[in-house]
Amino acid sequence: MQTERLKKYAELIVKCGLNVQKGQEVNIRCGLDQPEFVAMVTEECYKCGADKVKVEWSYMPISKIHYNYRSLESLSEFTDIEKAEWQRKVDKLTCLLWLDSDDPDGLNGTDSEKISKANIARYPFIKPYRDLLENKYQWCIASVPGREWARKIYPQLSDEEAVNELWNNILDCSRVDNDPISAWEVHNKNLASRCEFLNKYKFEKLEYKSSNGTDFTVGLNPLGIFMGGGEYTLGSNIYYNPNIPSEEVFTTPMRGIAEGKVVATKPLSYQGKLIEDFSLEFKNGKVVKVQAKKNQDLLEKMVSMDEGAPYLGECALIAYDSPINNTGILFYNTLFDENASCHLALGRGFNNCIEGYEKYSVEDFEKLGVNNSMIHVDFMIGSKDMSITGVTKDGKRVSIFENGNWAI
Ligand code: ZN
Repeated sequence: MQTERLKKYAELIVKCGLNVQKGQEVNIRCGLDQPEFVAMVTEECYKCGADKVKVEWSYMPISKIHYNYRSLESLSEFTDIEKAEWQRKVDKLTCLLWLDSDDPDGLNGTDSEKISKANIARYPFIKPYRDLLENKYQWCIASVPGREWARKIYPQLSDEEAVNELWNNILDCSRVDNDPISAWEVHNKNLASRCEFLNKYKFEKLEYKSSNGTDFTVGLNPLGIFMGGGEYTLGSNIYYNPNIPSEEVFTTPMRGIAEGKVVATKPLSYQGKLIEDFSLEFKNGKVVKVQAKKNQDLLEKMVSMDEGAPYLGECALIAYDSPINNTGILFYNTLFDENASCHLALGRGFNNCIEGYEKYSVEDFEKLGVNNSMIHVDFMIGSKDMSITGVTKDGKRVSIFENGNWAI
């Protein structure tokens, strides 16, 4: 594998993704698949002045064994060590990097009900820390190829060829060329100008139509703004890119306003399993019916995780001709597939998509119509012939997407 190109990728993640500052702590969550690359990233963090870098390795087959053997009571426990770790994140505003390489089917054969119940039991302990951290620290999700993941995408290739092919696709989609940092500056500017255009209209709702059966309207938040690319941390004003790659322009919808049917155009990897060929029907903003050819029970569980799970938390716009979609590959991975297709997310909305969000408290956002939930799960709905029309408060209609691509 081309070491120079990987070094550029490591530098891109640390400087442009996390934007690690002198004296900061960094936590890296990753699998065992690419230790040499994790070492490059760790060194790059120190070169940028990190005070301490902690790598948290995981191995999905072992996670699976834990899930199978531990009791619900044991899985639900929130230990003193975890408590101290969360508190340290709050005190230090630790940067968080997730280098995802997970096998999309890695948790097949585990009891989703037990895992969901354990997550529900742990959430009240984690939530106060999450609230304290929200928007205040730099985080980034990027990917490295795992063997099982690569096998799933390229079953016809040998393991080594599949991993190499996936590396190339990850690097191409992440704009790792001669000068990736400059490429991202240009890219961030382009995304910002799309947001500016959309924000000018203050659309009240978006109407989606596609020949696959999607016929759907979603209400946007009157205080909501579209965002895309880099963001600033609250308080310290550090510019970072939470997703590498990222092609989306997104906003937080108005809770309670969504009507009609959306048909998913890519399978959804959730809790280590794939939900396939599915659709959702909404009434008064809430999912009232789900249908899936595969793992329907898991989809049903997902939308009933808590009170906010059947409501929407994100509307994201991405051209059908996006660089990721044009690879022609289904990645079975949310970071890539969500950036290849217009999508919606069920669950938690984005507080920082509310104009002047700094001046509100955590409790205010729910009153302002931002959905709250323990889940935030993206699912893809973009298609070749999708049209999206924005409707303003005074009834003006603006075509935003035609035939799957930007019309503006
Ligand atoms: Zn998104």
